[in-house]
Amino acid sequence: MMKIKDLHFLFKKRELSPLELLQDLLEKIKKEDKEYHSFLFLTEELAFSLARSAEEEILKGDFHPLCGVPLSVKDNILIKGEKCTAGSKILENYIASYDATVIKKIKEKKGVILGKTNLDEFAMGSSTENSAFFVTKNPWDKTKVPGGSSGGSATAVAKEFCFYSLASDTGGSIRQPASFCNVFGLKPTYGTVSRFGLISMASSLDQIGVIANSVEDLEIVFEAISGKDPLDQTTVDFSFKKEKISSLKGLKFAFLKEAFEKEVDDEIKKNFNEFLEKIKKEGAKIKEVSFESFRYALACYYIIMTAEASANLARYDGERFGKKIPGLDFFEEISKTRGKYLGKEVKRRIILGSFVLSKGYFEDYYLKAQKIRNFIRKEFEKTLQEFDFLLMPTSPILPFKIGERINDPLLMYLCDIFTVPLNLSGFCGISMPSSRGKKISPGIQVIGGPFKEGKVFAVGKILETLI
Ligand code: GLN
Repeated sequence: MMKIKDLHFLFKKRELSPLELLQDLLEKIKKEDKEYHSFLFLTEELAFSLARSAEEEILKGDFHPLCGVPLSVKDNILIKGEKCTAGSKILENYIASYDATVIKKIKEKKGVILGKTNLDEFAMGSSTENSAFFVTKNPWDKTKVPGGSSGGSATAVAKEFCFYSLASDTGGSIRQPASFCNVFGLKPTYGTVSRFGLISMASSLDQIGVIANSVEDLEIVFEAISGKDPLDQTTVDFSFKKEKISSLKGLKFAFLKEAFEKEVDDEIKKNFNEFLEKIKKEGAKIKEVSFESFRYALACYYIIMTAEASANLARYDGERFGKKIPGLDFFEEISKTRGKYLGKEVKRRIILGSFVLSKGYFEDYYLKAQKIRNFIRKEFEKTLQEFDFLLMPTSPILPFKIGERINDPLLMYLCDIFTVPLNLSGFCGISMPSSRGKKISPGIQVIGGPFKEGKVFAVGKILETLI
């Protein structure tokens, strides 16, 4: 796949124009995506108008690296005047009335938004099978899942339908599908990218990030979308600075001991070990660390996430957004509307979340989970004070068959053991393939301290040359 910088160069030399590229990609998507279903729908009119403005911008001379570059957007990020379904029947006809901040930033730079990608309903899932519309297929094996919840975004990037995708990561939804589709994914530090205009799942964990085909592309997009936003009070004063690392020599990497436990597939363990050997040969110092909190992270996540999600999803009552079934009174209307238009997994999480927040159980579950979250953050902090980076696999398993786990929610939740700790800590990390190419390979997570995106990209670029 061509990199964003190479495309920029072609635009500069006028060897290709954004409109030509757009037409080619739309043709490719219409022909090939029938088999993969990465897009829920295309936003052609918008794409053409953005491509035309990109052409004008290029003619003026100086233009942003993302000008004219085609992207896709996970369908839980609002684009003014376009549908935003969150993969749910309840929002099937909902049209967004404003742009998310990240969209505003991309539009200012004349990025070309091609369409909205498929996801698990309200970003709840690890396989994209919870989408109320259809299942997205793994780009390298159509019998398998692409991961989730941003499976549509990861497949669209892997199939080269677009150069990058904007998506959300609450417990791994960028990194896990990136790993299943053999592409790169970034979960930024909490507060660096505005969540304004993202359909909330669990607000203290949600973060908008990027899926792309290289570390450098992740960096270019992160630089363009990050920064303080008065419309999101959780954003921080942050301006991204590029960093440079010239070799792995002397860098200190911690790796998670728990990556070698029995729940992890042998192939993942073997591959992770090989990766560690490779970086050791390059002069990196590696050391095993064990997180005492690791075995509680998944339970902690599924308590905090369901609690916040149940509160966030209360707004879908048929009165304010989307579809509504009339009833005798307000309560009948709500129960009929939510009963019919929300999917099984979403209902399961609303019930679980309401339970952990209910009187008498709040202290036992929610409060305890918050304490554990604090503990997890401290363990991350301690490790990343001592080491430059922390490494772990992205997923304990390789992509599984469509249908294989969907009827066993607990088995599905287990997919998230290596990704949820990062959201609980708020720190940043990327998932990168352990082997390049149009195939499936286990993903590796490279984790850095808060606001250390620059350092993670710098080392990621070196690691990318080893795969
Ligand atoms: N797979 C996780 C879940 O189901 C992650 C979701 C996400 O990051 N949006 O909750």
